[in-house]
Amino acid sequence: MKQSAEIAVIGGTGFYGLFEKASEHIAETPYGPPSGIPSIGTIGDRGVAFLPRHGYKHELPPHVIPYLANIWILHTLGVKRIIAPCAVGSLSPEVKPGDFVLCDQFINFTRERKDTFYDGPKTTHISAADPYCPELRKIALEEAQPLGLTVHPSGTVVVIQGPRFSTRAESKFFRSIGGSVINMTQYPEAILARELEICYLNISLITDYDVGLEGDAKIKPVTHEEVLKVFNTNIEKLKKLIVKIIPRAPQNRTCLCSKALEGTPWR
Ligand SMILES: [Zn+2]
Repeated sequence: MKQSAEIAVIGGTGFYGLFEKASEHIAETPYGPPSGIPSIGTIGDRGVAFLPRHGYKHELPPHVIPYLANIWILHTLGVKRIIAPCAVGSLSPEVKPGDFVLCDQFINFTRERKDTFYDGPKTTHISAADPYCPELRKIALEEAQPLGLTVHPSGTVVVIQGPRFSTRAESKFFRSIGGSVINMTQYPEAILARELEICYLNISLITDYDVGLEGDAKIKPVTHEEVLKVFNTNIEKLKKLIVKIIPRAPQNRTCLCSKALEGTPWR
């Protein structure tokens, strides 16, 4: 039986499962194997696929994640919307550990990551002006408030190569160019989804203050241990939010994401 799903959740650091009972889909793509075999289940009456970004045992660091295979396998399952939570560091005093940010922009500092499905003969130049789905961001904001979550409705994520964290000088620079949060996986994941006309929602969970905030010696630079500790105390809240968002996604999409390839001659 062919399996399918219309919405996908890509779990990040500390988030490796969503369904208690899920069937497994055999994963093969022209871009190699994805991070893990997607598990497929339902939330409400919606078919949902779950894929762990770093693998089920967190064996894939950010710079070796098979981003193309991950987005492609979800596309072949019929996924039209991706909800992508991730752990991020804060670059801003008002964005605190335990808060959530619904990012609406990214600035890419990654390198040597393949970031397009269109190497020819099919070519395209999609707009990246608004890389995150405005429709899903609005729903996420509306659903987060009754759950008592502290949510920032917009923000710019600076995406670094990793796997190391930033130096103090780099962190200062990222703040100066308008970064609200910092992460290692939002690029090219978000833009690859757009290339296949899939809506993409990022839910950033703040786990730390990057290298600390200038002028506050009490805040220590981030460690991976600290990231996991804050993430684990907030994971249930995040799952509750995702379960609320999914049934509210309209059946028909009117957002810009669904029209990303409009005008390309081969479409
Ligand atoms: Zn959309």
